[in-house]
Amino acid sequence: MSNQKRVPVIAGNWKMYKNVNETRDFFRALPDSVRSCTDPMVVICPPFTDLHSAKENMGGSTLQLGAQNMHWQDEGAFTGEISPLMLRDIGCSHVLIGHSERRQYFGETDGTVNRKTLAALQWQLIPIVCVGEKLEEREAKLTDNVVIVQVQRALLNISKELIATIIFAYEPVWAIGTGKTCDSAEANRVCGIIRETVAMMSDKETAEQVRILYGGSVKPDSIKEQMSQPHIDGALVGGASLDPKSFSAIVNFR
Ligand code: PEP
Repeated sequence: MSNQKRVPVIAGNWKMYKNVNETRDFFRALPDSVRSCTDPMVVICPPFTDLHSAKENMGGSTLQLGAQNMHWQDEGAFTGEISPLMLRDIGCSHVLIGHSERRQYFGETDGTVNRKTLAALQWQLIPIVCVGEKLEEREAKLTDNVVIVQVQRALLNISKELIATIIFAYEPVWAIGTGKTCDSAEANRVCGIIRETVAMMSDKETAEQVRILYGGSVKPDSIKEQMSQPHIDGALVGGASLDPKSFSAIVNFR
């Protein structure tokens, strides 16, 4: 059932795009309706090298800063990695965890997703935990199983109180960057399964508080229908988040 208390979230994942100047230009081009938006809450996840510039250019806005990945340790000899403390220090409030591109190209597993989710919560970063099936899994009718196992493993050893603060993103891998969106009713069905799994790992009341986003080729002309679905509480937007006009149109979906 839809719950009016869940404030929707629109999160932009810039992936490995934009330099410091392009980041500044993006924020300058955003209209006040986006800069001061609180419903939906707007989160922008630039590459690590743009986090500082993004934070500066977000000044005085309600926009939230997110990272695209992190290590689970506080510090140490982990060349090339970034810790949750470093993300807090630079002004992040959110972090993407287990994006399918990290799972596919960088060896991210359900185990590392769980460690990172625990570490993010420990340092008061809101994790946006990405789950979703590959095309061959959907064709083999394994979607529900895949998503249930990913959610169960992500939530191991996490208390109900903390689970309530997590954001999930259902991102069917075959819909990411392909221009193919998952049918809204089907995306809603899978988001409902994610909510049921969260309830099994905590309780119904907790699951009703958890925000579940849809991601996969979200565009200005698809967002309204996606947002009308009772289990879809927002969107994780890749390609369309790079352009201030299309991102603003998605944020202003109403
Ligand atoms: C993503 O990167 O999480 C994503 C959903 O990308 P796109 O919107 O480009 O499909």
